[in-house]
Amino acid sequence: MKKDSACLFCRIAAGEIPCRKLFEDDQILAFEDINPQAPFHALIIPKEHFPTIADIPAESDFLISRMIGVANKLAREKQLDSGYRLVINCRAGAGQEVYHVHLHLLGGRKFHWPPG
Ligand code: AMP
Ligand code: ZN
Repeated sequence: MKKDSACLFCRIAAGEIPCRKLFEDDQILAFEDINPQAPFHALIIPKEHFPTIADIPAESDFLISRMIGVANKLAREKQLDSGYRLVINCRAGAGQEVYHVHLHLLGGRKFHWPPG
């Protein structure tokens, strides 16, 4: 499994930096965003290091569906029944700041379209 010892989310996945954990198994970790943009804001990451969603190779694309599956499970648990938003920012032009792929799960407020 690829890791980058300088990567913030690899370090969180390794337990070197604390997080408010919401879900964990051998492939996936979910934790609360440190700067929430909604009443509920979680990040769902693969434990393996891929800088962006565009870097996940075909043989690992099951991780994308696993991340969405964990997001749906958290949304059920948090009773985000009126709706929630799943976001993956890919590269700087889309606002990506942490280069370890992550799925944002946002809920608990109304969301607008198109996004900013
Ligand atoms: P993005 O802009 O899509 O790369 O999102 C990065 C997200 O990581 C932002 O929403 C940050 O608030 C969040 N973040 C940065 N550092 C931490 C941390 N130590 N723990 C939890 N979330 C973090
Ligand atoms: Zn990483």
